[in-house]
Amino acid sequence: MIMEKALPASRFFRLEPLCQGVYAAIVKDGTGALGNAGIVDLGDRTLVFDTFQSPVAAADLKTAAEYLTGKPVSLVVNSHWHNDHVLGNQVFEGSLIVSTDATRNLIKERVSSFIQTVIEHPEYPDYLFEMAEKESDPKRKDEWIRNANDARHAGEFHLYRLTPPNVTFREWLWIDGSKRSVLIQAMGGGHTEDDAIMLLPEDRVLFAADLVTVGFHPAMKYGNPDAWLDILDKLCEMEFDRVVPGHGTVGERKDVEVMKQYISNIKQAAAGIGYSRQDVIQCVMAELYREWASPGLFWANISSLCQR
Ligand SMILES: [Zn+2]
Repeated sequence: MIMEKALPASRFFRLEPLCQGVYAAIVKDGTGALGNAGIVDLGDRTLVFDTFQSPVAAADLKTAAEYLTGKPVSLVVNSHWHNDHVLGNQVFEGSLIVSTDATRNLIKERVSSFIQTVIEHPEYPDYLFEMAEKESDPKRKDEWIRNANDARHAGEFHLYRLTPPNVTFREWLWIDGSKRSVLIQAMGGGHTEDDAIMLLPEDRVLFAADLVTVGFHPAMKYGNPDAWLDILDKLCEMEFDRVVPGHGTVGERKDVEVMKQYISNIKQAAAGIGYSRQDVIQCVMAELYREWASPGLFWANISSLCQR
């Protein structure tokens, strides 16, 4: 029996082993890490999937990956352009940082303006704490507090350097390692204008980034719900048993079905098909999604679709 090394601890994330040499890095709330990441030991190389929002958290991820695999991180994958998955790139300078062409362009276009906006609004975390004070609903209060704590690292943003991907692909990329192989597949626009996943066929593990969330409301503001549903159908055809989501805990195949149901519910609620506002609260929210984190996104998702 081959023993795994003891898992390194981080204040930003906890590592969940999925099989030997494959780890989900599940973020801890309110630390500024924000989006889940992954570590894959390819044998001759080490790969990291997504890099959190905080470079300080990403530095912990790099240290953990190098400790666990005994090799430097030579490959980084960015699933999509959102800052909470790519702003840690700067600690992997010198590595190959891989994304689709479109995601690279979106990172260059949008993430630098996000950094600038945060620097120009140092009052934002205080505003979120004030909103938490005023909130009476306990779930929403938790959400405000978590968001406020996540925003507290805004003071570090002047140290952030936009580090876009330096290798791009259009459709898919197959990386053959000496220990295992991975498929990085462009899925088109669903959660954002362009999303990619990573499949470990031999290990039956899917890194789905924000195309799948588990126990956590997804963000649909930049998405296309119809295309997203088509992508989820394609994910269901892939061979995997466990899915690492962009937000929430490690899930199973059924969680992809749950995500399909969620997006269908949001579409129906936005279209007013068979739902009154009260129905949405009582039937959809109460029964299915009451325990999910970030409940404010539920209403934001409905209203973003209503405005189209
Ligand atoms: Zn995202």
